[in-house]
Amino acid sequence: MTPTPKFDRRTVLAGTAASVVAAGALTSGIAAGPVISSAKAQDAAKPAGVFRYQIGDITCFALNDGVANFPLGEGFVTNAPLTDVQSELRRALMSPETMSIPFTAMAVQTGGRTVVIDTGNGPAAGGTRGTMFSNLEAAGLDRASVDTVIISHFHPDHIGGLKDADGNKAFPNAEVKVPEPEMAFWMDEGAASRASEAMKPRFEAVRAAFAPLGDAVSTYADGAELAPGITARGAYGHTPGHTVFRISSGSQQMMVLGDTTNHPSLFVRNPQWAVRFDMDAEAAAETRVKLLDEVASDDILIAGYHFPFPATGHVVKDGDGFQLALVAWQPHL
Ligand SMILES: [Zn+2]
Repeated sequence: MTPTPKFDRRTVLAGTAASVVAAGALTSGIAAGPVISSAKAQDAAKPAGVFRYQIGDITCFALNDGVANFPLGEGFVTNAPLTDVQSELRRALMSPETMSIPFTAMAVQTGGRTVVIDTGNGPAAGGTRGTMFSNLEAAGLDRASVDTVIISHFHPDHIGGLKDADGNKAFPNAEVKVPEPEMAFWMDEGAASRASEAMKPRFEAVRAAFAPLGDAVSTYADGAELAPGITARGAYGHTPGHTVFRISSGSQQMMVLGDTTNHPSLFVRNPQWAVRFDMDAEAAAETRVKLLDEVASDDILIAGYHFPFPATGHVVKDGDGFQLALVAWQPHL
């Protein structure tokens, strides 16, 4: 029996052409320098991805916020030789020369409230980043209707969307909940003045991101319930206050892992590897191994901020590391 072809010829050809164009753009980007400029053909303002799913009575939306493309160099993984990192990428059939780091924020509807977890790079990021707002709209959610914004940590790809394009509150009616130790670290004048020249702009960026929010911001403690069914859990290391979230309803639950791992092809596979954004590499690795171990044994759904879309899946143990199986993206809302 001949199986029914899944795609007609036109679709297959169109797909092939698109792949060729993408590969060509990538190659020319490497040769020309910054790869990001080659992505001009993509319109970052157009919705790129929304994935809706249920955890019991709670509705979750994965909201794609674009991707950052940059040449891979020594030091992206701080504790492994570049050649090992490149072999791992080849094994995953990824480019060993260009890193593409995806971003995916979340919206959650729970107990009559609309919650956003992390805000994406924000409209000022431009280029291939900052699609979270348009994807929120595509999900049928209005920024003004968001009741609560929960922040996992203060890196710019997570707090950039606290402000809109005009520098005003992007979520005008929302309370903004941030981890207590994270706020304490970034607002500490001593830490800011002791920071290296490279880190000083980070401190300034955090202050600028929170400036328009005033008393909308409050801090939460480890273990706090932040919205019905959403509980904070300190997962320190990536930053001093990096936090993950358990979402549970009825018998179903999931863990929102934030930046517990950067790109899974490197750091889920090799949880001991540290990405250069891990502020305390040792603590971050310890947290990563512990959490991945836990979600693998409990076999619960996870979301990862830097996983490829829909950034939702399961991990299983595999040798010294883990393997991620993403769920199939159902693009229909
Ligand atoms: Zn991040």
